[in-house]
Amino acid sequence: MTLRLSRAFLPTLKETPAEAQIASHRLMLRAGLIRQTSAGIYAWLPAGLRVLRRVEQIVREEQDRAGAQEILMPTIQPAELWRESGRYDDYGKEMLRIRDRHEREMLFGPTNEEMVTDIFKQFAKSYRDLPRNLYHIQWKFRDEVRPRFGVMRGREFLMKDAYSFDLTKEGAQHSYRQMFLAYLRTFARMGLKAIPMRADTGPIGGNLSHEFIILAETGESQVFVSRDLLERDVLAEAPDYDSDLTAQVDFWTSHYAATEEMHDEAAWAALSEDKRVSARGIEVGHIFYFGTKYSAAMGMAVTGPDGQPVIPEMGSYGIGVSRLVGALIEANHDEAGIKWPDAVAPWAAAILNLRPGDGPTDALCETLYARLGSEGAVYDDRPVRAGEKFADADLMGFPWQAIIGPRGAAAGRVELKRRMTGEREEVSLEDAITRIKGG
Ligand code: ATP
Ligand code: MG
Repeated sequence: MTLRLSRAFLPTLKETPAEAQIASHRLMLRAGLIRQTSAGIYAWLPAGLRVLRRVEQIVREEQDRAGAQEILMPTIQPAELWRESGRYDDYGKEMLRIRDRHEREMLFGPTNEEMVTDIFKQFAKSYRDLPRNLYHIQWKFRDEVRPRFGVMRGREFLMKDAYSFDLTKEGAQHSYRQMFLAYLRTFARMGLKAIPMRADTGPIGGNLSHEFIILAETGESQVFVSRDLLERDVLAEAPDYDSDLTAQVDFWTSHYAATEEMHDEAAWAALSEDKRVSARGIEVGHIFYFGTKYSAAMGMAVTGPDGQPVIPEMGSYGIGVSRLVGALIEANHDEAGIKWPDAVAPWAAAILNLRPGDGPTDALCETLYARLGSEGAVYDDRPVRAGEKFADADLMGFPWQAIIGPRGAAAGRVELKRRMTGEREEVSLEDAITRIKGG
């Protein structure tokens, strides 16, 4: 499969859409990543879908690495399950309720605690069947009062949600720590600094919870963080998930980090001035330990080592996969457009042909394009002004732009522009390929 802009479906907009209040929403519409189909519901166009898939894949790899196993549960759930847990009435208007042709009450899942408990309890009979952690990456629906900011607060959105089942409280806390550290790695791999902050447990209920929040001016919540956490290099340490993870998690929980709801003025004031960072934040993940709330309500029990029934201890762990696409743009953009980090870019490079029709220019572009493969690059072969190509490449945010015109082509040289830093250099074809493939 080849991708030439002259034949691609990458519809960019020149004008700024009036409904978009924040940069990521504006840029996602302008760069042709998404298209709104109803309030808070979006179609993903080719470039947006590629980013969404890459974000999803990083999430998946880190869940797998931490020992969670992927399943796929449906979007539509029966109301009965939610009656068992007592949440059918509690959830209120955020839940989209549906009736099928037999008048059976169904709903579009806003989360899956009930369903996963129902599935897993049919298989888990003995303590040997625990611990287990099951996750899926599936669309959710929440009829938000005020959907806004594009995919950041949508009504239909893609979430990764994992659910852990353990025999004991200590076991459940270990599962919680595994997810805690897996989350840090997940966001760090995308080039984001996400800070875990002690959170209120809200409608999911339970005793222990952290929100993972990235700092951005347009964030919905006010947060207070110790600079030590912002400076931590998360990828430098790869956790051994089977070992005791207490010390690694303690580093994070022993430094100050709080949302407005959990903020403690006295503890904050005790911190030296140069360590205090107060900013706006975007919640990209949320983890909970809630004990036996769902397992007990839904009649789940396994036989313990002593032959007595044990009600499993549970936790749930969410990541806003589609929200992350917006959050990544909030963290990486300028006036001209998106600046994708290498790890999530839809394509590594755009090849800009400044003079389509000029033999040597076309030839060098085609060679570079073939060598980079269809995964690595899009080729702007359109018969439009160079200025338009530059503007679109900046807007769409490819990490590299390989700019080729008649003068360079004659000398076998490529001008490379690094979108993140704006640096430019003139290099040989081989060097261009090495740079682009190297990230
Ligand atoms: P919020 O406080 O932002 O409303 P929440 O606490 O209700 O979110 P959780 O139930 O913790 O959300 O869901 C897990 C993750 O799913 C959140 O951390 C967030 O990243 C994402 N998420 C939640 N609601 C939305 C939404 N309406 N649109 C996009 N992503 C969402
Ligand atoms: Mg939350």
